[in-house]
Amino acid sequence: MDPHLTAAIALTTVPALVTLGYAGLCWVIPFKTCQRCAGTGQTTTRILRRPRACRRCDRGTRLRFGRRVFNHFHRLRSEATR
Ligand SMILES: [Zn+2]
Repeated sequence: MDPHLTAAIALTTVPALVTLGYAGLCWVIPFKTCQRCAGTGQTTTRILRRPRACRRCDRGTRLRFGRRVFNHFHRLRSEATR
């Protein structure tokens, strides 16, 4: 087998598998734990350490980036074909 062909197959299949795996993850588990508040939904203020609602998430979970991209294009398509 040609070493260039082996390298080409490896260079195309590995990114394709990673992309498909992330797409499947975004489809099966669209929400992930917020990194800012560690899933608690609350952060503390810097000066007085008072608890307040996390501004990044909704009750400790956020939409994954891939799912947000999918939703954006899905809305674009539905508005264009309306
Ligand atoms: Zn949060």
